[in-house]
Amino acid sequence: MLVDLNELKGECSCGKKHEISVKGIFIEDGAIQKLPLLLSDFKRPAVICDENTYAAAGKTACHLLGGCFSVVFPPENLHADEKAVEKAEKMLPEDTDVLVAAGSGTIHDITRYLAAQKGISFVSVPTAASVDGFVSTVAAMTWHGFKKTLPAVAPEYVLADSGIFSNAPMRLTAAGVCDLLGKYTAIADWKISAAVTGEYICEKVCSMEETALSEVSKCAAGLAAGDKTAYEKLMYALILSGLAMQMVGNSRPASGAEHHLSHLWEMAVINPPLNAYHGEKVSVGLFACLEFYGKINHAIKDRALLIKPYAGLDREFIRKCFGEGSLYDDIIKENTPDSLEKISPDILTEKLGEIEKILDGLPKISELQNIIKDVNAVFLPEHIGLCENIMEKSIKAAPYVRNRLTLMKLSKLMEF
Ligand SMILES: [Zn+2]
Ligand SMILES: [Zn+2]
Repeated sequence: MLVDLNELKGECSCGKKHEISVKGIFIEDGAIQKLPLLLSDFKRPAVICDENTYAAAGKTACHLLGGCFSVVFPPENLHADEKAVEKAEKMLPEDTDVLVAAGSGTIHDITRYLAAQKGISFVSVPTAASVDGFVSTVAAMTWHGFKKTLPAVAPEYVLADSGIFSNAPMRLTAAGVCDLLGKYTAIADWKISAAVTGEYICEKVCSMEETALSEVSKCAAGLAAGDKTAYEKLMYALILSGLAMQMVGNSRPASGAEHHLSHLWEMAVINPPLNAYHGEKVSVGLFACLEFYGKINHAIKDRALLIKPYAGLDREFIRKCFGEGSLYDDIIKENTPDSLEKISPDILTEKLGEIEKILDGLPKISELQNIIKDVNAVFLPEHIGLCENIMEKSIKAAPYVRNRLTLMKLSKLMEF
């Protein structure tokens, strides 16, 4: 399956000219075999992987590229952080002129950040359909303990070999399904923000993601059965979500309150450090978010929701959650100027009907549970090592992790 990038690029009714920097995306059995041809202009390629993904794809990639250099990380405690970047920088030969990311999300974030630093390009060889970040232009890094989205480069090519990624551990594939399902609340947040503040939104991107979501919702049983076509559909949807970010120029189409919850837990300020995949944390965030948004929807329907004026940043609560140190300063910086300051309570009241309609479009919790049970995905806080009553505090704290407006953030002006 070759992704038709021309259909996504160019002038759009949203007023934007959508840019996509990826040159080609191949999602098929044997896609990795294209490496030598695509990289024939480069002299010193290097493969970035971990021990597991070296066995799955890195070894083949090195072999196909004439026994090129490889950075093979130990997979234990591997994170996209300053330590991994430093380690790879030290190991890579000076004259490396192109990188190959053979791995899942973490390896891709490390590689795309390194490629940007070195001013070279990279090729993506995903070893699992585990995240939507393969084609992202930004890297989700943890920099000195703080989750940051740092400028990076998108891959020049994606060689998604279903012969490789359909053999990934089911837990990784389940994480990918959940990262994708998180787009339901991400898109709802985007639509709500656009309705309330007039924020830019692209209908084409929204409907493209909604189509991909419904496609994948139908293929969970195929994934469980190891059907390569189902895996290709999931990978296609994940890549499309990454392309949506490129088209818009930020992660708005792919990340809303469900991701903010995940980022909060990754910071381990109100919980112990978690040993869970990105998609697993997003899954728990998504289900918590759906439940919370369901309550807001009910309150709107029952006319039991009051809009109150914004009381400003709750610095005392932020201090309690994030401590006194540099994290506190980072959170305050992230929230300056505060995206809630410009919200007029009158306009928000006026838009409640529209918000209700958007929330009505969200899937039911039971529907999503049905989809994810086929792939055995986690969805409860205790599944990922969180205590079961962490949600109230999380919902209060998570909106501070990003300045992006979500319904969860807007709920600070709501009483119900
Ligand atoms: Zn558009
Ligand atoms: Zn994600």
